[in-house]
Formats: sequence, structure tokens, C-alpha cells
Amino acid sequence: MKKTLTDIDVNEKKVIVRCDFNVPLDEAGRIADDTRIRGALPTIRYLAEHGAAVILLSHLGRPKGEPNPKYSLKPVADALADRLGAPVWFKSVPTVVDDEVKEKAASLKSGEIMLLENTRFRKEETDNDAAFAKTLASLADIFVNDAFGTAHRAHASTEGIARYIPAVSGFLIEKEVKFLGDALNNPARPFVAILGGAKVADKIGVIESLLAKADTLLIGGGMAYTFLKSEGYEIGKSILDENGIELAASLLKKAKDAGVELLLPLDVKTGKEFDNDTESAYFDSDAIPADRMGMDIGPKTAARFIEKIRSAGTVLWNGPMGVFEMPNFAEGTRAVANALAESKAVSIIGGGDSAAAAEQFGLSGLMSHVSTGGGASLEFIEGNILPCIAALTDKD
Ligand code: ADP
Ligand code: MG
Repeated sequence: MKKTLTDIDVNEKKVIVRCDFNVPLDEAGRIADDTRIRGALPTIRYLAEHGAAVILLSHLGRPKGEPNPKYSLKPVADALADRLGAPVWFKSVPTVVDDEVKEKAASLKSGEIMLLENTRFRKEETDNDAAFAKTLASLADIFVNDAFGTAHRAHASTEGIARYIPAVSGFLIEKEVKFLGDALNNPARPFVAILGGAKVADKIGVIESLLAKADTLLIGGGMAYTFLKSEGYEIGKSILDENGIELAASLLKKAKDAGVELLLPLDVKTGKEFDNDTESAYFDSDAIPADRMGMDIGPKTAARFIEKIRSAGTVLWNGPMGVFEMPNFAEGTRAVANALAESKAVSIIGGGDSAAAAEQFGLSGLMSHVSTGGGASLEFIEGNILPCIAALTDKD
């Protein structure tokens, strides 16, 4: 277990916090979605209310190691000040840290907040350069990491810095580790994992890891067709991972050997073209016509999956059941999301598109946990050690 900000005394301390302010910007450079800013507020407020002087860090976009005004954190500083109802000191420094920033950090008082410029304005950030990490660390007494989305990448502001000052997790990382960690290591059973998404190849590690932990695997989405094909079904024009057929067969065998229940779609909703307005029709999985592609799970499958979700103790969902971006092929994903929202089980969503789907249906708030880290949550589920979490101080 890693220490979190409530395990340490932050009063009168300078605390540098790595946030995830990698927000989407519209064409005019305005913040298109402030979810990540709102998500960071509890950690920032806690620190300010407990007497810390708070120095915030983040990257934004991919400025490729060079200063680029397009990716300045200035709009984030303004949005933060607005949401916090308190001033947030910010100066757009191309080198992230200069003498003025150092002086400001040194004189920052308890309860005051400042934000540094985009850490990726420096090439040293992604290089995890020791000198840059040390410079960042020199501004503060304590490091708090609250950026789960980048926890799988060892960069200067996420991992390097933790080598020089005591490092603990913020509330967001603490929650991610608690929910994802408990689901994988100590799940309330039955543990049902729902997997979907486009390709098997993207999810091999996730499927293998869950095969060893879950009681039931429900497979939908694009990857299901490769599994169906490996079972000898004709899948028409459905998305197929040629290279994944053998792998799918071996995963099915592994599930059988391990006594894990693995369910594939019983029926699917098909179209003739990859288009929302294509003429759609339902078919059983063993009767998909040659000129059609499966773009969603069908109602029999949804009913079966829902039944499994209803009796689960823990449900971990990664990957949409169909092409949910097209309203005519979103029903299966919506049905699964609804069942999760209604279930008494611990319900966890990991994966960017699944989280977006839940948000689109207005169901995010009804889940026990929606992971904010796309790639990071997948790596966590795969059982990989995330370097930025490993770098935090262990509990006594
Ligand atoms: P996540 O981000 O939740 O991990 P993925 O990125 O693996 O999920 O997959 C999401 C994508 O899979 C979505 O864009 C969705 O349209 C696509 N998808 C789901 N089902 C199908 C299908 N039957 N055919 C083609 N694409 C699909
Ligand atoms: Mg995705």
C-alpha cells in the first residue's frame, strides 16, 4: 500500500502536485471539457485547507518538448481559479521553471496556489531527465501524484521527481488503486469481466490477466467476431483480426481449462455498411450472412449478459459492445451500461471509450468507479507495475 496525502502532515509545507490537466481544447483554444479540472479539485482543496502552499504541475497535449503557446496551461489556470474561487498564480515560462517561478514558489504561503507551465515544453520531461526532475523537486518539500492517466509513463514530473522528495498519492490515484486493485486482488465474487472494443490484439494482456482472476468473462464488441471465427462460425464482413484467430482459440481453451465461464454473443445486430444509416437486421451468431457485418450485440446476448451482471459481486467493464458512436448500434453498449448502473455489485469501468459511452448515456455517476486512465488502467488490469505508482512511498 502506498501513502496518500492523508497519511502525512502538510501544514506549512510546500507541496508540489502532479495533476492531469490534459484537457481537450476547442479550435479557439478554450477548454472543451473540464472533467479533469473538476476531478483535481478535492486534492487541491484538501492541501490548501490543511495549510500547504500548493504548486501544481501538468502536461497538456503533445508540444514535442518545445514551448508552444497553443498548449499553454493559461486557460487551465483561469478555469482553476474560477472553480476554486481563489487566485491561482501562473506565468507562461517557456522553460517551465525560471528565477521568478523559483522565487514565487519560495515565498508561496499556506493556502496559496500556483500552477507551472506545461511540463512538456521541455524535452527533459518525457526523457525523465534527472536534472529537470531535481529542479522541480527543489521547489517543494513533498510530492503528490494525482495524475493516473500518465502513471504508466516514467517522466520527470511523474516519476523522476519522486526520487528526490517524499512522494504520496492524491485522492484520484488513491481511488484508482483501491478500486482496480481490489477488483483484481480481492474481488467480491462472482467477479464478472465484460470485454469488448475493436480488436483482440489490443486486449490480449487484459484478457489473459482476467482469465486468471474472473469467474465469468463476457465478450462482445468487435473482438467477439475473431472468437466466433475461431469457433468455426462465419462472420460475414464483421471486423476480423486474422492474426488473432489462433490466439482466440487458445484463450477459449485456457478459459475452459481454468473453469472460467466465457460467453460469446448469441446474436448480433448487423449492417451492410459501416454506417449508422445502413439497413440493420438481427441474426444469431451462427447465421450471419456473408454480406453483413456485426456492429452490436443482439437482444438475446444483452439479456444473457445482464443476467450475469445482476448476480455479480464485482463487474469490471472494458470495451464497448458495439459501434456505440452510431446511435443505431449503441443499444447493446447502453444495455450493459444500464445493468452496471443498476447493479448492487462493485461496478468499475476501465478504458477510454467505455468511459465515454457511460458518460454519453449519463450513467457515469452511478458506477462505483470510472477509471480516468485509458492506457494506464489497461496496464494496471494487465498486472503491469505502473512506474509512477511504484515510485510513491510505501505505508509503514
Ligand atoms: P476502450 O477505449 O474502452 O478500451 P477500445 O478502444 O478497445 O475500447 O474499443 C472501442 C472501439 O471499438 C469503439 O470505437 C467502437 O466503435 C469499436 N467497436 C466496438 N464494436 C465494434 C464492431 N462490432 N465493429 C467495429 N468496431 C467496433
Ligand atoms: Mg479506446
